[in-house]
Amino acid sequence: MRVTTAFKHLLALPGVTVRQVDFGSRQVTVTVALRSGRLRCPACAYTTTARYDTRPVPSSWRHLDLGIWRLEVRAGLLRLQCPTHGVRTEAVPFARAGSDFTRDFEDLVGWLATAMDKTAIVRLVRIDWDSVGRIIARVMDDKLDPKRLDNLFVVGVDEVAWKKGQQYITLVSDHQRGKMVWGAEGRDSKTLNQFFTELGTERSAAIEAVSMDLGPAYAKSVRAKGHAPQAIICYDPFHCVQLATKALDTVRRQAWQEMRLLPDPTLAKRFKGARWCLLKNPVDLTDKQATTLRKIRRRGGEVWRAYALKEALRAVFAGDLSEDEVAVLLDRFCSKASRSGLKPFITLSRTIAKHRAGILAAVHLGINNARHEALNGRVRLIMKRAYGFHSAKSALALIMLTIGPVDHVLPHERQPGVSILSSA
Ligand SMILES: [Zn+2]
Repeated sequence: MRVTTAFKHLLALPGVTVRQVDFGSRQVTVTVALRSGRLRCPACAYTTTARYDTRPVPSSWRHLDLGIWRLEVRAGLLRLQCPTHGVRTEAVPFARAGSDFTRDFEDLVGWLATAMDKTAIVRLVRIDWDSVGRIIARVMDDKLDPKRLDNLFVVGVDEVAWKKGQQYITLVSDHQRGKMVWGAEGRDSKTLNQFFTELGTERSAAIEAVSMDLGPAYAKSVRAKGHAPQAIICYDPFHCVQLATKALDTVRRQAWQEMRLLPDPTLAKRFKGARWCLLKNPVDLTDKQATTLRKIRRRGGEVWRAYALKEALRAVFAGDLSEDEVAVLLDRFCSKASRSGLKPFITLSRTIAKHRAGILAAVHLGINNARHEALNGRVRLIMKRAYGFHSAKSALALIMLTIGPVDHVLPHERQPGVSILSSA
């Protein structure tokens, strides 16, 4: 068998003939030629036999490694003139437009990114993390299930920080399927408007309920004409508890600031370490944290009162109460919080009272707090890995490829019938 024929089988690249194979130091370079005489626009379906000029555009792509050898594919591409996109270098069947990597290589990286940490991927595939980010963004564009926006009835809108500082992504999840279905950079009503534009009026009109946090931005977008004004707006219990946790943290910080002014600094120091034992759920506490919590309880005072209020609210939404019971307990919480003398909790009680109907609607529709919290927890874990990315799109791709409607097919799964013995 000739070397070029052997490499044609080894590489299994669609639509090419292998012309030449060169061995360099630690790298195999395979020169290929496209089999089709038609030139394809990389941005649309336009094809033509007419070339724009005769000078070939030297191009190269990284392909899957061959053992310890890096493998580079090279080809001289032609240029065409697309009526819509102007003069472009032709597309190739084995790589996505604008990429320096083959589709097989990108699909592998796309899957690895969902299962492996940053250090491991970068070491295994020998590319930097930002290149991984650009690759997964292309894989996402290509592989997101186009039907993911069909049959949406109960959705949740959420924001997540993708970078330290004020950099956010808005995410839309399908409550019934428990999957992320949409995302975009930003967190205001304009960001969510893009979702409804993509959804179109017909599918928007079918939405029955939207759960969200207690801020005004998302509700404004949902209520807009042509979006989903018919939908019941539900305020996720998860977000209410989040607000209570924030209120508790404010009380704790104030108490700590006051302690620092005391003559004995050890008290303030010890108290600073108490943050996590107050904010974590009691069942998640370590032994040491549980001891600290007992000490705070013995001391009593504002911090303990704030803690008890937060835990009371969490219990209201634990999921084991009837709607009526939740309503009664929620009102009881509000009256307790408003009389607590703790400013952050007085504010919280007003916020909850104002959104009472929406909160109870979420309970009525069974918008599952635990499930939402679990999805939210996974997003936060994924975002920790996304911190090194330079673009929101890469961060979004990491979420979508991991918990979105994406079917990962690895190169060897896509071409199961390739045999070295068939066709020469
Ligand atoms: Zn075009």
